[in-house]
Amino acid sequence: MNLNELREKVAYACRILAREGHQDNILGHVSARVENQEKILIKPSGFGLEEIEARDLIVCDFEGRKLEGEAGVHLEIFIHTEIYKVRPDVNCVIHTHPPFATAFGSLGQTFRPISYEGAIFSSRLPLFESTTALIRTPELGAELAKTLQDGRAVLMRNHGVTVVGSSVEEATLFGVFLEKAVRAQLLASASGEPSWCSDDEAEAKFHLSYTGERLRPMWDYFVRRVKRDARI
Ligand SMILES: [Zn+2]
Repeated sequence: MNLNELREKVAYACRILAREGHQDNILGHVSARVENQEKILIKPSGFGLEEIEARDLIVCDFEGRKLEGEAGVHLEIFIHTEIYKVRPDVNCVIHTHPPFATAFGSLGQTFRPISYEGAIFSSRLPLFESTTALIRTPELGAELAKTLQDGRAVLMRNHGVTVVGSSVEEATLFGVFLEKAVRAQLLASASGEPSWCSDDEAEAKFHLSYTGERLRPMWDYFVRRVKRDARI
């Protein structure tokens, strides 16, 4: 994939996440690994996720230094760079402050697959507790990457979430579905004693619905939703 195609994809990821519950002022960021290079394409600081166009994205190196682009670098760029360094399977990193996942992370409850999407995270959804402040240093970024381990997402106590994927499409959809899955648990546990599916069933649901080519029509659907909004 060339850099322009990647730019388009990351811009859609920003706008999809904004539309699906991850918008928070000018905070939150999405990045993608530039193929075969120690570089990332990342949303710049100073703009809301929903405002991002392909041309706005900046290019940074793995030390967090800007190489290309006009706008500023998010202070928390080390969330991205440190994860890419230790997770060669990860090609997209998302960090946002979605309200339900942030509230859920403050409770320290074990995550349960209450809704269908819960199957994506039921095997592992760690909680990062080293700090509730911004991840402003490579050391804190590395600490977060260590908590994430080989997971698909990590909750950050009193702060937000970080979600990863092998592609921009995968990470974005997992971000959307994480917020929906924890919302279901919050709703259910606020109303009574929820039940949830078994580990085996969750594993089967994950493979049936949320892997590889199965994600493509879902991505296309969310892209159509943001395109429709832009026309109104
Ligand atoms: Zn943050």
